[in-house]
Amino acid sequence: MQERLPAPEFDSPTGSVFPPPAGRRVYCNRNLRLDQVKAVGFDMDYTLAIYRQAEMDRLCIDATVRKLVDRGYPEELLSMKYRTDFPIRGLLIDRKLGNVLKMDRYRYVKTAYHGFRRLTREERRRAYHTRRLRPGTGRYHWVDTLYSLSEVAVYAAVIEHLETHGGSVDYGQLFADIRECADISHQDGSILDLVLEDLPRYVDRDPDLGVLFHKLRSAGKRLFLLTNSGPEYTDAMMSYLLDDALDEYPSWRNYLDYICTASQKPSFFTDKALFTDLETEEESRDPTRGRVYVGGNIVDLQRALGFTGDEVLYVGDHIYGDVLRAKKESTWRTAMIIQEMDDELRVLREHAVSFERADALEQMRDAVQDELREHQARLKRVERKLNGQESGPERASWDAKRVRHRRSIDRLRAQLKDLDTERSALHDVLDDAFHPFWGSVFKAGNEVSSFGSQIEQYAGLYTSRATNLMQYSPMHYFQSPRHRMPHETGSVPGT
Ligand SMILES: [Mg+2]
Repeated sequence: MQERLPAPEFDSPTGSVFPPPAGRRVYCNRNLRLDQVKAVGFDMDYTLAIYRQAEMDRLCIDATVRKLVDRGYPEELLSMKYRTDFPIRGLLIDRKLGNVLKMDRYRYVKTAYHGFRRLTREERRRAYHTRRLRPGTGRYHWVDTLYSLSEVAVYAAVIEHLETHGGSVDYGQLFADIRECADISHQDGSILDLVLEDLPRYVDRDPDLGVLFHKLRSAGKRLFLLTNSGPEYTDAMMSYLLDDALDEYPSWRNYLDYICTASQKPSFFTDKALFTDLETEEESRDPTRGRVYVGGNIVDLQRALGFTGDEVLYVGDHIYGDVLRAKKESTWRTAMIIQEMDDELRVLREHAVSFERADALEQMRDAVQDELREHQARLKRVERKLNGQESGPERASWDAKRVRHRRSIDRLRAQLKDLDTERSALHDVLDDAFHPFWGSVFKAGNEVSSFGSQIEQYAGLYTSRATNLMQYSPMHYFQSPRHRMPHETGSVPGT
């Protein structure tokens, strides 16, 4: 068999090594020619503004819990410890039973917790596997943004606390209260005012952002900002991120052709709200370059840009509000920012040998199982022959065959047991390396997780931060590895 050649590396015209290191790479689900992209839009929060998750979680938890206690929840909640390392994106809250779930792409619940207690396989089976789970119904709630992770941390901790102390919990009411208190905290300034008071503490300022915008503009692309944050907050945040980044651009507004704040995504993609000019308060369907707007809609923005939908690339972090809706309601191309990729890639790199071993174990298991099934089928045939057969030389020969098959079956079963023991120990180690409660964000057991599957379906590109786009020429052709069918990859059997 021909040996696989190492992936080619060469110096790109910009002087950087290509392909970029894994953590700076942009991954592709759907082919995209950057030279055909005429406009690039950006969401702001968690896309351009990378929040420090642990700091933000603490802020959100404090504000939410104070409001819960005001509503009559026990005072001890104020002094309790909340595990901000518990939740991840892509979880599902079951408001009826008070559980937190992680599903694979087929909606099969692979992991579940009640409080911080992991449900047994039998408990999961009884609750979720005997009837089809419908995540779209009111019983369930998707956790698909980083800013809502703190709500899960509070939900699990409060359930754990109240039930340990003998209280009964109305799981649906508790979740509704947490959601409401968190929403109010986001709206009344309990969270955002504190963020604005100390931006460097809460937001990681990416020093390359100005350079990325400049590079895209120099390649002739129009840039726009499309954020649900209000205009004042947007102005403070964007000034922090971009003012003074490059001499040629004294204000963040100089980088952007169109600026849409308080945009009400996802309705921005479906409704026809007018653009309101922030200074003149004039409403129009015809946004002008360089002005700051409140509201607006995709149809009028696209007309102002002067390009067709497939010439627009939109970069966001929210699978539903940014990526899925944009994809379903328009022909915009999408890129998703997934901060979690830094950790995921680190684990893949540090445990590369274990992942290879896990693959090898799967192959060995398949081979042993095939052989086992073969011996079991043959044993059945032998036993049918033996049934009612008189003693004699022929019977002795069938007897010997039966003994041989039984021995082989025992040997193979023992092998399978050993392989399974090693496989499950290895999976535990790897899951734990990704995340002690849930394992990888993108996988659920051997399957792609429901979150991973949504990314595959809706995000044309995905990467850990927006400035990774800078690693590529503005003419780059992103190609999905899925342009090959399964039979085209790897070695060809029988050669
Ligand atoms: Mg966002």
